[in-house]
Amino acid sequence: MPKFDYDLITLGAGSAGVRASRVAARYGARVAVVEERYLGGTCVNVGCVPKKLFVYAAHFGEDFDDAAGFGWTVGGRDFAWPRLIENKNAEIARLNGVYRDLLEGAGARIIEGRARLLDAHTVAVGEDTYTAERILVATGGWPAVPDVPGREHVITSNEAFFLESLPGTIVIVGGGYIAVEFAGIFHGLGARVIQLYRGPLFLRGFDDDVRQALAREMGKRGIDLRFDSSVESIERRDTGDGPRFTVTLADGGAIEAGLVMYATGRRPITKGLGLEDAGVAVNEKGAIVVDEEWRTSVPNIHAIGDVTDRINLTPVAVAEGQALADLLFNPSGRSVGYDGVPSAVFSQPPVGTVGLTEAEARARYGAVDVYRSTFRPLKHTLSGRDEQAMMKLIVDSRSDRVVGVHMVGPDAGEIIQGIAVALKCGATKAQFDATIGIHPTTAEEFVLMREKAPRPAPAG
Ligand code: NDP
Repeated sequence: MPKFDYDLITLGAGSAGVRASRVAARYGARVAVVEERYLGGTCVNVGCVPKKLFVYAAHFGEDFDDAAGFGWTVGGRDFAWPRLIENKNAEIARLNGVYRDLLEGAGARIIEGRARLLDAHTVAVGEDTYTAERILVATGGWPAVPDVPGREHVITSNEAFFLESLPGTIVIVGGGYIAVEFAGIFHGLGARVIQLYRGPLFLRGFDDDVRQALAREMGKRGIDLRFDSSVESIERRDTGDGPRFTVTLADGGAIEAGLVMYATGRRPITKGLGLEDAGVAVNEKGAIVVDEEWRTSVPNIHAIGDVTDRINLTPVAVAEGQALADLLFNPSGRSVGYDGVPSAVFSQPPVGTVGLTEAEARARYGAVDVYRSTFRPLKHTLSGRDEQAMMKLIVDSRSDRVVGVHMVGPDAGEIIQGIAVALKCGATKAQFDATIGIHPTTAEEFVLMREKAPRPAPAG
């Protein structure tokens, strides 16, 4: 008789938990996954996947405009938000089924309900209890809204995916990935968007040229970007046409809108899980603290993905799930490379980035060479759209290695994915230069840049 009911019980069937559980089950482990909400987690249900579908939807508006320069006359257009939501919901339901099949097909059991740890080996779900040799916490994160008067009137990205209608004017608060992406989505679908960010320039942590280029392009499209702008309070009143909101700003101004969305970061889901009963330590932000083998302060309890609040990206969570399953049930010595993780912001135009920002590279290497190019993509010579792509390479002068690559422009995410492989291989600027371009593409600019940007004058 085995000592425990399961070899592994996973809390949370998101990107991290599903990968770890199904791989562990395929290796022969007896696995159960407890999930209280939806299979596939944030990414599938209220994150990456529906967001990207919305981005496609939003892009059609400007594609119709751009078509005219190529000879097309596009007839009357009408956008039906309910149809987008309905089709998106059907696709997500299909994906929920795929995730169920993946888990069950691998031999893992899905337990529906909210899990609570009773001790280091026991999980309660409703009236039932289950024991496991190892427990994996992969409960993810949840949007956080600051304590501003009227916070009960605002929505987060969770609700944005299920709105019944698209209001004419939308205020978005925040300056990170989600705020910028939804500003582009709502604007592209026809709403007037006002984005408020508390600092001088949004996307803090990204390369400064990226931040400036994106702000310029979003501004040109007609998104009302207001930096150094903080919300004092939000009031709601009901009218015959639905709710209206007044957003009062710290500078005394006020904005009227049909919807207020906060995208001000996400917090790990660790409350109410019984972590304290099991002795699992969390940090001051509520994130589970793990070592390099994703072990918590309790050796048989592991944690991966957004609940550890490190690099909160789906592919990182998936890589951690795979690596942990390998480590526990089929050791291969492979781990997760946290350096050089590429990412994209699906703004309009999109951002793609890998490696260090210019400021980080200067701080780390001292002497760096910067190659920067800003140009109008070929498509827009005929579309007439006033859009500039910005591409940038950052090179460590001493070793000639390319240490950062950044882009704002069409297909930036698709382009940077390939460049990220080159950076993993330690590519030098000379190797970029020796690579033949594909003509005519935007991406070829990365192998054609020869002129260094002037070095900034030394301070003082
Ligand atoms: P981010 O952490 O990216 O950004 C949060 C934003 O909210 C920042 O601009 C921050 O400002 C601002 N903010 C934080 N607290 C307050 C406050 N009290 N008042 C006003 N503004 C505030 O969070 P997101 O919610 O955009 O996204 C969460 C995470 O999800 C991302 O960091 C990313 O890891 C992941 N994600 C990835 C995507 C992708 O890969 N394309 C897409 C969506 C999400 P400041 O900079 O001044 O602190």
